[in-house]
Amino acid sequence: MWWMRHDRMWKTRELKDRYDVVIIGGGVHGLAIAYYLAKQGVTNVAVLEKGYLGGGASGRNTAIIRSNYRTPEGVTFYDESVKLYESLSIDLGYNVFFSQIGHLTTAHTESAITGLRVRAEVNKLMGVDSRVIGPAEITELVPSMDLSPHARYPILAALYHPPGGIIRHDAVVWAYAREADKLGVSVLPFTEAIGIGRNNGSVSSVQTTRGEIKAGTVVNATAGFCSTVAKLAGIELPVTTHPLQAFVTEPLTPFLNCVIVSSTLHVYISQTDRGELVIGSEIDPYTSYSSRSTLPFLESSAAHTLELFPSLRHVKVLRQWAGICDMTPDYSPIMGEVPGIKGFILDVGWGTYGFKAGPVAGKRIAELIATGKTPSVIEPFSITRFWEDRLVGEKAAAAVSH
Ligand SMILES: Cc1cc2nc3c(=O)[nH]c(=O)nc-3n(C[C@H](O)[C@H](O)[C@H](O)COP(=O)(O)OP(=O)(O)OC[C@H]3O[C@@H](n4cnc5c(N)ncnc54)[C@H](O)[C@@H]3O)c2cc1C
Repeated sequence: MWWMRHDRMWKTRELKDRYDVVIIGGGVHGLAIAYYLAKQGVTNVAVLEKGYLGGGASGRNTAIIRSNYRTPEGVTFYDESVKLYESLSIDLGYNVFFSQIGHLTTAHTESAITGLRVRAEVNKLMGVDSRVIGPAEITELVPSMDLSPHARYPILAALYHPPGGIIRHDAVVWAYAREADKLGVSVLPFTEAIGIGRNNGSVSSVQTTRGEIKAGTVVNATAGFCSTVAKLAGIELPVTTHPLQAFVTEPLTPFLNCVIVSSTLHVYISQTDRGELVIGSEIDPYTSYSSRSTLPFLESSAAHTLELFPSLRHVKVLRQWAGICDMTPDYSPIMGEVPGIKGFILDVGWGTYGFKAGPVAGKRIAELIATGKTPSVIEPFSITRFWEDRLVGEKAAAAVSH
């Protein structure tokens, strides 16, 4: 009967002996690379995922999309992703619920205002809609937020970025997987990479929990686990892994039509289409691969939320969770080839801000693999920047505001 028919989103496939491209990591990045490769006709591709698709940070993030970064390189890169997200539902034939409700970063000190002004100017220069606004306009946008001068850290101004917003993160993952599969990619959940073979300075194979496969190109798209996977190929990455936590409240009548970020209070808040408040903070200050959530995080984030929205004091918390994040020293990603190992491509260092970059990283890394040329938009993020003294410092725009 037609109403009982369940088409699988992707097929269960056997492992082949050889793939042109093996992508390790079945999150938004690995699946987007696979999809854009297949769109360019490169279809002998496998995506290896050790658990279920989207079970890493892609299924645990707070789904904020924006491009109001601090450096020209960052703004250009993330802006391309916002534009790809704008047409993603149509391109993939699947509603990813991208709500461009706007993004507001509050300033509670004079020096924070200076920082936001710099960002606004860089954003404007790069053609991104972003400006510093004062208390009157903030109250108009978010009437429920406490802007009184008696607050512990009164809000003095904010960076307003209208194109920012939130998305349905798991829909993005499933849609990329479905379309990649349709185009012939082997999407292989529950298949862990446990070794990477090298021959004469090139990658040659990947050992998996389901057997060995030969590979022309191997992509590391494993986010929080990227340094352990790079070690399989004999490479040390300048990456440390930290937990990042979030929690969600019971659903409320819609009242918050904007993403709110306060770096001073170390908290950010958005309201989903279902009415729940999604609340998060900065990374935990210790390195760990644990995805356990903690009471101190919940207590401090809830307290800071109440400093901004005292009227939420009776709201109940539904659940909390954690994911792990691959942090780089400059809070920018690492993308591209690794000198000395032909065919080993990095798409890592996504820290607390990589979900929004899935489409652009996927598209441009696929282009690099298909053409052998590094697209200019990802060139500044090569691993060589760490020894060529040209970091892309984004901490001011990426530490709390994911
Ligand atoms: C709580 C939280 C909130 C966040 N909020 C935001 C936000 O609002 N906006 C934003 O842009 N970003 C946010 N992020 C960051 C974002 O989620 C990540 O940067 C992004 O999802 C990384 O995607 P990915 O595909 O590279 O990695 P992942 O989704 O983590 O996928 C990597 C996959 O690799 C798999 N894997 C690891 N090792 C192996 C192996 N040996 N073999 C096979 N598979 C392997 C893992 O199981 C995992 O599924 C947040 C993260 C967290 C945890």
